[in-house]
This record gives sequence, structure tokens and C-alpha cells, in this order.
Amino acid sequence: MLYESTRGGLKSIQSAEAIKRGLAPDGGLFVPENRVKFTLDDINEMVNMSYQDRAVYILKNYLTDFSDQELADCVNNAYTAQKFGDSRIAPVYKLNENVHILELWHGPTCAFKDMALQILPHFLVKSVRKTGETSEIVILVATSGDTGKAALEGFRDVDGTKVIVFYPNNGVSEVQKYQMITQEGKNVYSIAVEGNFDDAQNGVKAIFTDKGFKEQLEKANYKLSSANSINWGRLVPQIVYYFSAYADMIKNKEIECGEKINFVVPTGNFGNILAAYYAMEMGLPVNKLVCASNDNNVLTDFINTGVYDRNREFKKTISPSMDILISSNLERLLYEITDHNSELINEWMEGLRADGKYSVDSTTRKKISSVFWGGYSTESETMKTIEAIYKEYNYVIDTHTAVAVDVYDKYVISTGDITKTVIASTASPFKFNESVVKSIFGDGTVKGRSEFELLKVLADECKIAIPEGLRDLDKKPVMHNKLCDKFGMKGIVKDILKV
Ligand SMILES: *Cc1c(COP(=O)(O)O)cnc(C)c1O
Repeated sequence: MLYESTRGGLKSIQSAEAIKRGLAPDGGLFVPENRVKFTLDDINEMVNMSYQDRAVYILKNYLTDFSDQELADCVNNAYTAQKFGDSRIAPVYKLNENVHILELWHGPTCAFKDMALQILPHFLVKSVRKTGETSEIVILVATSGDTGKAALEGFRDVDGTKVIVFYPNNGVSEVQKYQMITQEGKNVYSIAVEGNFDDAQNGVKAIFTDKGFKEQLEKANYKLSSANSINWGRLVPQIVYYFSAYADMIKNKEIECGEKINFVVPTGNFGNILAAYYAMEMGLPVNKLVCASNDNNVLTDFINTGVYDRNREFKKTISPSMDILISSNLERLLYEITDHNSELINEWMEGLRADGKYSVDSTTRKKISSVFWGGYSTESETMKTIEAIYKEYNYVIDTHTAVAVDVYDKYVISTGDITKTVIASTASPFKFNESVVKSIFGDGTVKGRSEFELLKVLADECKIAIPEGLRDLDKKPVMHNKLCDKFGMKGIVKDILKV
């Protein structure tokens, strides 16, 4: 399989090159040139496989320049029962006859980013070697919370790499902050930036585009790279769990092979739901993909009107990992839906850059709405959903998952569709415990308690175990205490790399 850029400026490179580069030089995203097709027999084959074997079975169609053994090495290093606390890796939980929850948060950082960021470092190290690169890879990340910790944990002690994470000092939750400052590993660094997420992000971008600095780093045998969700190496492992969920549904006799199901995905950058779309295009029997947003509902509007317009107020919500106004991976969907028309993509992305908006033609819009249904959940609806699901099923969901559950209810009310449905659950409720406890037990229970105390409240009241990664977090030794202002980020990188 070869890869090309959505903007048409680069054709036919191997997956290792695409993973090493991350972003195409013309500003586009790498996509596979051809479609991969699975038959129902191929899907049936997966029913009795382990998660790891299912992963190799899918990945070898996309990363064709990797040997089966190399892929097995990556998969077996990434998805261990020990790191995921569950040998099933991404288990499916039956909520009721119609609704099943795909739990994507059993990884070490308790959010679904682990599904991709546990394996990306292994892809990257192998890609670097395959392309003849000898430099050490330095991963720079600006994070609003989940990605930073997942990158630190994924790259921790991976030979030939260093990872430096910048997070806004007052822009992440207590749990998220402690996850980052107590990070262990000899090649990992987390640094607080005095400013907000945009300041951290702009600082990282400025370092990436600083030509002089790049040369200086190259002389010292370093190469900068990024681990953000536009890298194909992050997207492709996400295709696996949609097939895996389907195979589990067959195994558990919930469906017959070939029966169509719906997937509902809480969406921010459009990476997770795009992986579901690729799975569907490959032949996974899907009826609808439901795209769930929070109050930053730019995607809901896009699916319903064909107009993408980011000119609106950015809202901070209780589902912060979905607080995004530019969903980068949408570019890949548009490229696929228009049968690889890079001229149109250039036109739309230029509109987005210059005016913050673009509108797609009616054929494209119809194609999108034949596959996707879009909806959003307000803050109070999200909280009510957490409470309702707990009261009815004794099952605790986090705020992001609650957005998806609420939008699914709206979908059913609006369409009457009762096709069996799998809802992607993207974070452990412990990770966003304050909002979860408040939703179930009210304001009074939250007042005066730290997030660490609330972990225990949630565990005791709901009789669920605190995940390993969050247990005694506030008692772990602090390994990182650097703070810099937004102009000091490059200096910090220089200090760390001694250049
Ligand atoms: C990143 C994230 C999302 C959004 O996923 P995208 O791939 O960006 O659409 C949803 N929920 C949680 C908990 C996340 O960390």
C-alpha cells in the first residue's frame, strides 16, 4: 500500500515514510492510495482471534512495508494485558439489548488516546530505521490534557526517542497535571507553560517552523517529530477496535455476521470516527455512524448543512477533550468522499484558512449525510445522562461518553432506528471524576473535596475500583517541576537536548 497527500502534492510513498513525516510537505494529510476490502468471511475469521491477532490481521493491509513479525512486535509491545488491565484490551460491555459500550479506556492513562499512542512509538521507531534515518527522534507535544500523558506513557523508555510535553499550567485538571508531573521514564519531560493551551500550541508550532533551530538540531543528530492525531500511525490502529467490537458481538451471539450495526462516537478532532468510516469502507457492516459533539458543535452543523464554519465562540466544557473548532481529520473524510479530489480539498482548506469556513457541494453533502448523523449534547444534558445511566444500569460513564449516549438517544428519537448500536466510551469516569460525582450525587458531595478525594468517593459510592494509573497519584514523587513562560519554550528544549 502506498500513500499520497490529500492536497495532491506528494504521491506514492511507503507507510514508514508517511509515519515518519506525520504531515505531508504540502500541508495535507497522508491517506492510502487504494481501498482495502474485507469480505464477511475475512471478518468471521477474526471472531476467535485475540485482540493482538485481530490488530495484525488489519494492520498488515495498510502497513505493507512492515513484515508480519514487525507488526506482531509492535502490537505485542503495545497491547499487553498488564498495561491494559484486561486481556481483551478493548472490551464490549452490554448495557441493554440494543446498546453496547466499547470501552476504550483500559490503557495506562485511562483515556482512549492510549489505543493509538501505545503503538505509535513502535511504528515510529521502526519507520525511522526503515527510511535510513539515524538521528534520535524528539517528539514535541502541546496538550490540553489527555494527549500529553498518553504520549509520555507511550514513548517512555522507547529507545531512540525523547518526548517533551508542554501543558498550560492552569488549563488542565488536577488529575491530568499529576499524571504528567509524576511521569516516570528516562527519556520523558513535561513542562508547564504560563498561558493557555493556544500559547503552548503556538510555541510548539514556532519551534517546528524555526529553520535555523532545525539545522542546529540536525547537527546534534536530533530530528523533531510530532505525535498528534493527524499522523497516519495514530489513525490506523483505531480501525482495529471497530472490527474487534463487531467480532465480539458475533462471538457473544448478539448479531449474525453480516448484520449491520450503528456506531456512536464522541468526536473532537474527527480521528476516532474517521477510523470507523475506514472500517465501514473496508466492508464492516455499518448502518450509521453517529457523530456526537458537545457545545462546540461545529461538526453537527457541518453534517446537517454542508457548511463548516469555525467562526464561533470557543466554549470550555466538562468534556474538554472534545473542545475543538478545527477538526483536522475531516480533511481525510472529504478526500475519500470526493474520490480523492485534491483540487476540491485545496479549495475548501484555503477557505478554512482564510475565512474560517467553507461549504461543500450538494453531492458531497448528500454522501456525508447518507453515512453520518450528527448531534450534540449540552452541559446539563450531559450531566443528566451520567445520572440517568447510573440510576438505570448501575454503570458509570465519563462526560465524553455521556455526550455520545445523549446524542444516541436523540438519534433514536429523531429516526426511530433501533438497529443494534455500539457506543465508543473514550475515558474512564475516574479521569473526569468531579463532573461525574457532581452529576450523580449533586453539588454538595463535590464541595470542598479535591479531585483526589473524589476518586475515593466515586470508588466507594459506586463500588468500582480506581484504575491502577490513577491510584495514589497525589502520593507519587514529583519528577517534573519546570515552568516556563510562552516565550521560553525553545530555551527549555535547548536545555533538555543540550544544544
Ligand atoms: C481525544 C478525545 C476525544 C475526541 O477524539 P477525536 O479522535 O479527536 O475525535 C473524545 N474523548 C476523549 C476522552 C478524548 O481524549
